[in-house]
Amino acid sequence: MTTETQTDIAANIEAVQAKIAEAATDAGRDPAAVSLIAVSKSHPGSAAAAALAAGHRVFGENRVQEAQEKWPPLKADYPDAVVHLIGPLQTNKTADAVALFDVIQTLDREKLARSLAKEMDRLGRAPDLFVQVNTGEEPQKAGVLPLEADSFIKKCRDEMGLPVVGLMCIPPIDENPALHFALLADMAARNGLHRLSMGMSADFETAVRLGATEVRVGTAIFGTRAPHP
Ligand SMILES: *Cc1c(COP(=O)(O)O)cnc(C)c1O
Repeated sequence: MTTETQTDIAANIEAVQAKIAEAATDAGRDPAAVSLIAVSKSHPGSAAAAALAAGHRVFGENRVQEAQEKWPPLKADYPDAVVHLIGPLQTNKTADAVALFDVIQTLDREKLARSLAKEMDRLGRAPDLFVQVNTGEEPQKAGVLPLEADSFIKKCRDEMGLPVVGLMCIPPIDENPALHFALLADMAARNGLHRLSMGMSADFETAVRLGATEVRVGTAIFGTRAPHP
């Protein structure tokens, strides 16, 4: 793993923000409508601290336990930091996730929806939720299938009263992401959802052109990550 230096991290954020602004303007969108989520997963707290010191406030983590170790001290220094969970959530970690995260992007099954509803009620805390859609219908990947998405969204929002604000997807690595981003945008529009979490280091400009309101960028800001153990 090669985490960038503090100066690099600040410069990288600025460069990514400039590309987001250019892509948004090209597409006739307001650059302010796109939020950059700096994905600090598997990088040390000092890397996130460098981004915070540079004025950045929105972050993404993919593991509950790692975030629990990293974020409480950072949030103590920067109470306005916003942390998104962008990795899979097991139901035995739901309470921890509701307590820690400001946004949970990986709601993708009924059992998790029920568990989130229960813990939000118990803890009196309601992080915004995104429904993750497995747009490529990949067997190994999390997310509700496209054909089941409409009814799942309705059930979460209307029957369980969950604060679903948008949709999230991770396209297959070997396919043109634009098709998946367009599919997700369609799905959000027909369900009256206004936020779209799509686009990573390799394709965030495409995602912005197709309507992303949050892009999740890790490598282009913090450098390469160690492979998972
Ligand atoms: C790691 C991760 C990212 C960031 O990926 P980069 O290619 O490093 O920008 C975005 N979204 C999700 C869900 C991730 O797990």
